[in-house]
Amino acid sequence: MTTINESVHWSAELGGGTRVALIQAGRFRSDAGALLGVVPRMMWKDLVADEIDHDHRLLQALNCLLIETPSGRVLVETGIGDRISDKGRAMRGYEGPWIVPALEAAGFAPDSVDAIAVSHLHYDHAGGALRADGSLAFPRAKFIAQMAEWDMALGMNPRLIASYDQPELRLIRDLGMQSAADGDVEIVPGVSVFATGGHSAGHQGVIVRGQERTLAFFGDLCMRPWSANPKWVTAFDDFPLDSVAVKAELFARAAAEGWTIVLSHEPVHPVGRITRDRDRFSFEASV
Ligand SMILES: [Zn+2]
Repeated sequence: MTTINESVHWSAELGGGTRVALIQAGRFRSDAGALLGVVPRMMWKDLVADEIDHDHRLLQALNCLLIETPSGRVLVETGIGDRISDKGRAMRGYEGPWIVPALEAAGFAPDSVDAIAVSHLHYDHAGGALRADGSLAFPRAKFIAQMAEWDMALGMNPRLIASYDQPELRLIRDLGMQSAADGDVEIVPGVSVFATGGHSAGHQGVIVRGQERTLAFFGDLCMRPWSANPKWVTAFDDFPLDSVAVKAELFARAAAEGWTIVLSHEPVHPVGRITRDRDRFSFEASV
């Protein structure tokens, strides 16, 4: 078995031969106002003072997870990838390494990945499924997104498809259709995806149950520490009322059961727990 080396940003044993490694597939910049949605700037400006740039953008990491279980290896998220144009790269302030070199540096060969689960099909989550030449980056892996997400991503609604890169998604469509999930699905024993909606129509989370510890990844419903407030929802969320409701439900469970949580875009303190004080939730970083 491969040993996790120092190129992994964090890793933990969950018990029973299951372990999870966090691998950051680069970073990019995203508009601060859009990330904080309807929350007034006065309420968040101090939280982002260290990272906001002259264009009012925040620094967003592309956090991916490599889950090792006795029955298979699952990659969660693929980041932006290597097919973005120089113009797109500059516009988004994107800096690699993308997921393949990041995984290789951590000691994992791309062809050893059995399944990829992406929270949704926005470009910053699905882009790394392909190499620069358009071939599959993880040739042996099933590609697991929700069927409802594919329907929306390849649909015609001009507001909803704005966040998807349709020409790119068409390149992995056949692969994606073969293994698309419809609701809650166990990918390998102990690793499941569950439909959440909210951020996008077919957004999903991932839960990993080891013998001693449970880890959950809520995708872009929980990007950064401040996402722990169920009402702090990004302007990118296509179904914000669903986001608020599903976040409250998931966070209540995560807090009650002491799940380890990994945030999807937090660059510095991406791992921790959700704690609860009556109807309020907070994210407490442990790393
Ligand atoms: Zn995202």
